[in-house]
Amino acid sequence: MKPELGKLAAASRALGADPAYAQGGGGNTSVKLDGRVMAVKASGCALKDMGTEEDFVLLDYPRLRQYMQAPDVDEAAFNAAIASCRIEVSEAARRPSIEASLHALMPAKVVLHTHTVYAMVPACCAEGREIIAGALESAGIGEAAWLEYATPGRALALALTESLPRGGPHEIVFCANHGLIVSAESAPEALALHTHVNAALRAALDLPDFDADAPLPDVDAARNFPLFPDLVVYTQGGGPVNSSAGRETLAAWGYVHRALVARKLTPVAIPVTMTEELLRMESEKYRMSVAE
Ligand SMILES: [Zn+2]
Repeated sequence: MKPELGKLAAASRALGADPAYAQGGGGNTSVKLDGRVMAVKASGCALKDMGTEEDFVLLDYPRLRQYMQAPDVDEAAFNAAIASCRIEVSEAARRPSIEASLHALMPAKVVLHTHTVYAMVPACCAEGREIIAGALESAGIGEAAWLEYATPGRALALALTESLPRGGPHEIVFCANHGLIVSAESAPEALALHTHVNAALRAALDLPDFDADAPLPDVDAARNFPLFPDLVVYTQGGGPVNSSAGRETLAAWGYVHRALVARKLTPVAIPVTMTEELLRMESEKYRMSVAE
């Protein structure tokens, strides 16, 4: 394995080992190996298990960036176009992460995307942007970009496509009702930044440790107030809510919701029209079918 890929795999495992950062198969990572090739996590592979080259998919990222200037409207056509940017496709080739286009668009070399519960607390409330700005400033971290909620995959990548030309820093991106993206020129630097941002948010909001084994919240309460996409997939999409991934996802909802209520912040759920859009998505169905 190339050293850069090995470092990314190590950073991915470090993130995946902490259920506060990655519940089930959630989260994804990438590295741009040269001017053409980007290695991105394969769909259906958990961060904690990333160890071999087969856990990554190689994509022609300049081509993918070009495609994002005028992507297909149809989700299936969009996914097929992303898949057609693969390099060295074999019989056993896996599909790239649903967020591959997001990774391609990010300017920096190494990109880490997690569903960290500590970022999810501000990312799922009306006061989030102010809280994040204050937390990062207090910790001496630069500014972050903020993307309003968009369905993972095509819509989220388009939101980033529109945000990038507006300028401003994009090393750190908060995705409302979804999670955190950090980027840097090496995997260890990106991992350190991820740790730093999470620590800053925990300090600002006085957030306790995430306990994945805490009593689970009521499934109906979570289903009726979906804070993030994976929760929708597991509670409304017929996803295996009793799987370990489903239980971790439910525990994350419980943690984020409890933290918001206890701090008298205003929780914001994903609008119903957008949960319906998510449930129609072919790529989420694929992910659900491989979730363990
Ligand atoms: Zn995500």
